Amino acid sequence: MISRAGIPVVDAHSHYFGSHTLRSWVERGRTMESFTKRLNTRTDMKGFELPDENWDTAQRWVDELDRYGVEAMGVMVGDDAYAEFKEAQHRFPGRFIGFRNIDPAQPDAPAKVREAAHDGLKGIKLYPSSWRGMKVYDEAVYPVYDECLRNRMVVFLHFGITIGGQADLRNGNPIDIQVPSRDYPDLSFIVAHFGAGFFREVLLMQYQADNVYMDSSGSNSWMKYMPYDLDLKQIFRKAVQAGGSHKVLFGTDSTFFPRGWRLNVLEAQLTACRELEAEGVLKDEDIQRIFHDNVLELTGLKRGPTL
Ligand SMILES: [Zn+2]
Repeated sequence: MISRAGIPVVDAHSHYFGSHTLRSWVERGRTMESFTKRLNTRTDMKGFELPDENWDTAQRWVDELDRYGVEAMGVMVGDDAYAEFKEAQHRFPGRFIGFRNIDPAQPDAPAKVREAAHDGLKGIKLYPSSWRGMKVYDEAVYPVYDECLRNRMVVFLHFGITIGGQADLRNGNPIDIQVPSRDYPDLSFIVAHFGAGFFREVLLMQYQADNVYMDSSGSNSWMKYMPYDLDLKQIFRKAVQAGGSHKVLFGTDSTFFPRGWRLNVLEAQLTACRELEAEGVLKDEDIQRIFHDNVLELTGLKRGPTL
Protein backbone atom coordinates (compact mmCIF):
# COMPACT_ATOMS: atom_id res chain seq x y z
CA MET A 1 0.00 0.00 0.00
CA ILE A 2 1.35 3.40 -0.97
CA SER A 3 0.24 6.42 1.02
CA ARG A 4 -0.95 9.68 -0.40
CA ALA A 5 2.54 11.02 0.31
CA GLY A 6 3.97 8.51 -2.20
CA ILE A 7 5.67 6.08 0.16
CA PRO A 8 4.49 3.09 2.20
CA VAL A 9 3.56 4.22 5.70
CA VAL A 10 2.89 2.64 9.07
CA ASP A 11 2.07 5.05 11.88
CA ALA A 12 3.87 3.80 15.00
CA HIS A 13 2.18 6.04 17.56
CA SER A 14 -1.44 7.07 17.74
CA HIS A 15 -4.21 6.60 20.27
CA TYR A 16 -7.29 4.48 20.40
CA PHE A 17 -9.98 6.15 22.49
CA GLY A 18 -13.24 4.30 22.54
CA SER A 19 -16.55 5.88 23.32
CA HIS A 20 -16.23 4.76 26.96
CA THR A 21 -12.98 6.67 27.37
CA LEU A 22 -14.36 9.95 26.14
CA ARG A 23 -17.49 9.59 28.24
CA SER A 24 -15.50 8.71 31.36
CA TRP A 25 -13.46 11.89 31.00
CA VAL A 26 -16.58 13.94 31.07
CA GLU A 27 -17.86 11.92 34.04
CA ARG A 28 -14.59 12.33 35.94
CA GLY A 29 -15.29 16.04 35.94
CA ARG A 30 -12.84 17.12 33.29
CA THR A 31 -15.37 19.41 31.72
CA MET A 32 -15.50 19.84 28.01
CA GLU A 33 -14.84 23.52 28.46
CA SER A 34 -11.52 23.24 30.26
CA PHE A 35 -10.38 20.34 28.15
CA THR A 36 -11.19 22.14 24.90
CA LYS A 37 -9.28 25.14 26.20
CA ARG A 38 -6.17 23.04 26.82
CA LEU A 39 -6.49 21.54 23.35
CA ASN A 40 -6.84 24.97 21.76
CA THR A 41 -3.81 26.48 23.42
CA ARG A 42 -1.51 23.47 23.17
CA THR A 43 -2.49 21.55 20.05
CA ASP A 44 -3.76 22.15 16.54
CA MET A 45 -7.20 20.83 17.46
CA LYS A 46 -10.10 23.18 17.64
CA GLY A 47 -12.26 20.71 19.51
CA PHE A 48 -13.34 17.14 19.40
CA GLU A 49 -16.44 15.14 18.75
CA LEU A 50 -18.22 13.37 21.55
CA PRO A 51 -19.40 9.91 20.57
CA ASP A 52 -23.08 9.20 20.17
CA GLU A 53 -24.75 5.79 20.26
CA ASN A 54 -23.75 4.92 16.69
CA TRP A 55 -20.11 5.81 17.13
CA ASP A 56 -17.78 3.18 15.59
CA THR A 57 -14.20 4.10 16.46
CA ALA A 58 -12.58 1.20 14.59
CA GLN A 59 -14.45 1.84 11.36
CA ARG A 60 -13.69 5.55 11.50
CA TRP A 61 -9.97 4.95 11.88
CA VAL A 62 -9.86 2.34 9.14
CA ASP A 63 -11.71 4.75 6.84
CA GLU A 64 -9.02 7.33 7.61
CA LEU A 65 -6.20 4.86 6.94
CA ASP A 66 -7.80 3.87 3.64
CA ARG A 67 -8.33 7.48 2.64
CA TYR A 68 -4.64 8.26 3.04
CA GLY A 69 -3.25 4.88 2.02
CA VAL A 70 -1.75 4.11 5.41
CA GLU A 71 -1.09 0.41 5.99
CA ALA A 72 -1.47 0.24 9.73
CA MET A 73 -1.62 2.33 12.83
CA GLY A 74 0.10 1.65 16.15
CA VAL A 75 -2.25 2.71 18.90
CA MET A 76 -2.00 3.25 22.63
CA VAL A 77 -4.93 1.60 24.35
CA GLY A 78 -6.15 2.38 27.84
CA ASP A 79 -8.23 0.10 30.04
CA ASP A 80 -11.41 1.95 29.11
CA ALA A 81 -10.99 1.14 25.45
CA TYR A 82 -9.37 -2.27 25.83
CA ALA A 83 -12.36 -4.53 25.16
CA GLU A 84 -13.44 -2.34 22.27
CA PHE A 85 -9.94 -2.45 20.82
CA LYS A 86 -9.71 -6.24 20.97
CA GLU A 87 -12.83 -6.41 18.85
CA ALA A 88 -11.39 -3.83 16.45
CA GLN A 89 -8.30 -5.98 15.93
CA HIS A 90 -10.44 -8.93 14.93
CA ARG A 91 -12.64 -6.91 12.64
CA PHE A 92 -9.71 -5.30 10.84
CA PRO A 93 -6.74 -7.67 10.94
CA GLY A 94 -3.42 -6.02 10.23
CA ARG A 95 -4.66 -2.45 10.48
CA PHE A 96 -3.98 -1.83 14.16
CA ILE A 97 -0.88 -2.56 16.24
CA GLY A 98 -1.84 -2.41 19.90
CA PHE A 99 0.23 -1.02 22.77
CA ARG A 100 -1.44 -1.20 26.16
CA ASN A 101 -1.24 1.67 28.62
CA ILE A 102 0.23 0.25 31.81
CA ASP A 103 0.46 1.86 35.22
CA PRO A 104 3.15 -0.09 37.11
CA ALA A 105 1.78 1.19 40.42
CA GLN A 106 -1.19 -1.15 39.99
CA PRO A 107 -0.50 -4.57 41.51
CA ASP A 108 -1.94 -6.35 38.47
CA ALA A 109 0.30 -4.48 36.01
CA PRO A 110 2.41 -7.54 35.05
CA ALA A 111 -0.77 -9.59 34.60
CA LYS A 112 -2.13 -6.90 32.29
CA VAL A 113 1.02 -7.06 30.18
CA ARG A 114 0.60 -10.83 29.94
CA GLU A 115 -3.04 -10.48 29.00
CA ALA A 116 -2.21 -7.91 26.33
CA ALA A 117 0.40 -10.22 24.82
CA HIS A 118 -2.11 -13.05 24.83
CA ASP A 119 -4.62 -10.78 23.09
CA GLY A 120 -2.16 -9.98 20.31
CA LEU A 121 -1.01 -6.53 21.38
CA LYS A 122 2.65 -5.86 20.65
CA GLY A 123 3.83 -3.65 23.45
CA ILE A 124 3.03 -1.34 26.28
CA LYS A 125 3.02 2.37 26.90
CA LEU A 126 4.29 3.95 30.09
CA TYR A 127 3.68 7.59 31.07
CA PRO A 128 6.48 8.38 33.54
CA SER A 129 5.90 12.14 33.08
CA SER A 130 2.61 11.65 34.90
CA TRP A 131 3.71 9.21 37.58
CA ARG A 132 3.53 10.11 41.25
CA GLY A 133 6.57 9.07 43.22
CA MET A 134 7.73 6.39 40.82
CA LYS A 135 10.65 6.29 38.41
CA VAL A 136 11.12 4.01 35.42
CA TYR A 137 14.23 2.59 37.09
CA ASP A 138 12.45 1.65 40.32
CA GLU A 139 12.50 -2.03 41.12
CA ALA A 140 8.74 -1.94 41.38
CA VAL A 141 8.61 -1.44 37.60
CA TYR A 142 10.90 -4.38 36.82
CA PRO A 143 8.20 -7.07 36.93
CA VAL A 144 6.54 -5.15 34.06
CA TYR A 145 9.76 -5.22 32.05
CA ASP A 146 10.14 -8.93 32.84
CA GLU A 147 6.74 -9.64 31.33
CA CYS A 148 7.51 -7.52 28.28
CA LEU A 149 10.72 -9.43 27.73
CA ARG A 150 9.02 -12.79 28.19
CA ASN A 151 6.32 -11.83 25.69
CA ARG A 152 8.54 -9.96 23.22
CA MET A 153 6.76 -6.68 23.69
CA VAL A 154 8.20 -3.24 23.10
CA VAL A 155 8.03 -0.46 25.69
CA PHE A 156 6.90 3.01 24.61
CA LEU A 157 7.58 5.79 27.09
CA HIS A 158 6.21 9.28 27.34
CA PHE A 159 8.89 11.43 28.89
CA GLY A 160 9.03 15.21 28.75
CA ILE A 161 6.19 17.69 28.61
CA THR A 162 2.69 16.37 28.39
CA ILE A 163 -0.80 17.65 27.65
CA GLY A 164 -2.06 15.58 30.58
CA GLY A 165 -2.91 17.76 33.58
CA GLN A 166 -1.29 15.36 36.06
CA ALA A 167 2.33 15.85 35.04
CA ASP A 168 5.25 15.51 37.43
CA LEU A 169 8.24 16.34 35.27
CA ARG A 170 10.65 15.15 37.95
CA ASN A 171 9.88 11.73 36.54
CA GLY A 172 10.04 12.86 32.93
CA ASN A 173 13.72 12.67 32.03
CA PRO A 174 14.58 9.97 29.45
CA ILE A 175 17.96 9.51 31.13
CA ASP A 176 15.97 7.52 33.69
CA ILE A 177 15.60 4.68 31.19
CA GLN A 178 19.34 4.15 30.86
CA VAL A 179 19.65 1.66 33.71
CA PRO A 180 16.62 -0.43 32.65
CA SER A 181 17.93 -0.42 29.07
CA ARG A 182 21.21 -1.76 30.39
CA ASP A 183 19.47 -4.35 32.56
CA TYR A 184 17.23 -5.45 29.67
CA PRO A 185 19.43 -5.40 26.57
CA ASP A 186 16.91 -7.50 24.63
CA LEU A 187 14.00 -5.16 25.31
CA SER A 188 13.27 -2.26 22.95
CA PHE A 189 12.50 1.06 24.64
CA ILE A 190 10.91 3.70 22.41
CA VAL A 191 10.93 7.28 23.66
CA ALA A 192 7.90 9.09 22.24
CA HIS A 193 8.03 12.52 20.57
CA PHE A 194 11.86 12.54 20.48
CA GLY A 195 11.71 13.00 24.26
CA ALA A 196 9.22 15.90 24.20
CA GLY A 197 11.78 18.51 25.20
CA PHE A 198 14.53 16.20 26.45
CA PHE A 199 15.93 15.71 22.97
CA ARG A 200 19.51 16.13 24.12
CA GLU A 201 19.04 13.33 26.64
CA VAL A 202 17.55 11.00 24.02
CA LEU A 203 20.54 11.70 21.77
CA LEU A 204 22.94 10.96 24.62
CA MET A 205 21.14 7.67 25.11
CA GLN A 206 22.09 6.74 21.55
CA TYR A 207 25.69 6.68 22.70
CA GLN A 208 24.90 4.81 25.87
CA ALA A 209 22.46 2.16 24.71
CA ASP A 210 21.63 0.17 21.60
CA ASN A 211 18.04 -0.53 22.55
CA VAL A 212 16.65 2.96 23.07
CA TYR A 213 14.63 4.18 20.11
CA MET A 214 12.63 7.33 19.48
CA ASP A 215 9.37 8.08 17.78
CA SER A 216 8.67 11.22 15.81
CA SER A 217 5.00 11.41 16.65
CA GLY A 218 2.92 14.53 16.80
CA SER A 219 3.61 18.12 15.96
CA ASN A 220 6.73 18.17 18.17
CA SER A 221 5.60 21.52 19.53
CA TRP A 222 8.10 21.06 22.38
CA MET A 223 10.55 22.72 19.95
CA LYS A 224 8.99 26.05 20.88
CA TYR A 225 10.19 25.66 24.45
CA MET A 226 13.85 25.08 23.61
CA PRO A 227 16.34 27.88 24.32
CA TYR A 228 17.58 27.61 20.72
CA ASP A 229 15.98 27.27 17.30
CA LEU A 230 15.14 23.80 16.19
CA ASP A 231 13.05 22.46 13.33
CA LEU A 232 11.98 19.04 12.11
CA LYS A 233 14.83 18.83 9.67
CA GLN A 234 17.41 19.45 12.36
CA ILE A 235 15.72 16.98 14.67
CA PHE A 236 15.75 14.19 12.08
CA ARG A 237 19.34 15.01 11.14
CA LYS A 238 20.54 14.81 14.73
CA ALA A 239 18.45 11.74 15.53
CA VAL A 240 19.77 9.78 12.56
CA GLN A 241 23.34 10.93 12.99
CA ALA A 242 23.31 9.96 16.66
CA GLY A 243 21.38 6.70 16.45
CA GLY A 244 20.95 5.67 12.82
CA SER A 245 17.80 5.51 10.72
CA HIS A 246 16.77 2.24 12.39
CA LYS A 247 16.32 4.14 15.66
CA VAL A 248 13.56 6.50 14.49
CA LEU A 249 9.92 5.46 14.15
CA PHE A 250 7.46 7.70 12.37
CA GLY A 251 4.25 8.48 14.22
CA THR A 252 1.42 11.01 14.05
CA ASP A 253 -0.08 10.90 17.56
CA SER A 254 -3.54 10.95 15.99
CA THR A 255 -6.18 10.90 18.67
CA PHE A 256 -9.53 12.53 18.09
CA PHE A 257 -12.15 13.25 15.52
CA PRO A 258 -12.96 15.31 13.57
CA ARG A 259 -9.22 15.91 13.13
CA GLY A 260 -8.71 12.21 12.33
CA TRP A 261 -5.47 10.83 10.96
CA ARG A 262 -2.89 13.59 10.77
CA LEU A 263 -1.76 13.70 7.16
CA ASN A 264 -0.15 17.09 7.83
CA VAL A 265 2.24 15.46 10.31
CA LEU A 266 3.30 12.90 7.70
CA GLU A 267 3.76 15.60 5.06
CA ALA A 268 5.84 17.85 7.29
CA GLN A 269 8.11 15.05 8.50
CA LEU A 270 8.53 13.53 5.06
CA THR A 271 9.39 16.94 3.60
CA ALA A 272 12.10 17.34 6.25
CA CYS A 273 13.47 13.88 5.46
CA ARG A 274 13.41 14.51 1.69
CA GLU A 275 15.46 17.66 2.24
CA LEU A 276 17.95 15.61 4.20
CA GLU A 277 17.99 13.08 1.37
CA ALA A 278 18.83 15.85 -1.09
CA GLU A 279 21.72 16.81 1.17
CA GLY A 280 22.98 13.23 1.30
CA VAL A 281 22.17 12.75 4.99
CA LEU A 282 19.46 10.16 4.32
CA LYS A 283 19.04 7.54 1.63
CA ASP A 284 15.79 6.25 0.22
CA GLU A 285 16.07 3.09 2.32
CA ASP A 286 16.45 5.19 5.47
CA ILE A 287 13.14 6.86 4.68
CA GLN A 288 11.55 3.47 4.08
CA ARG A 289 12.79 2.33 7.50
CA ILE A 290 11.63 5.40 9.40
CA PHE A 291 8.16 5.66 7.87
CA HIS A 292 7.40 1.96 7.51
CA ASP A 293 9.80 -0.83 8.46
CA ASN A 294 11.15 0.03 11.92
CA VAL A 295 7.95 -0.37 13.85
CA LEU A 296 7.10 -3.61 12.04
CA GLU A 297 10.52 -5.06 12.75
CA LEU A 298 10.59 -4.05 16.41
CA THR A 299 7.18 -5.60 16.99
CA GLY A 300 8.08 -8.76 15.09
CA LEU A 301 5.47 -8.14 12.41
CA LYS A 302 8.15 -8.08 9.74
CA ARG A 303 11.59 -9.65 9.72
CA GLY A 304 14.48 -7.28 9.52
CA PRO A 305 17.26 -7.55 6.97
CA THR A 306 19.63 -10.36 7.91
CA LEU A 307 22.97 -8.85 8.73
ZN1 LIG B 1 0.69 9.96 22.16
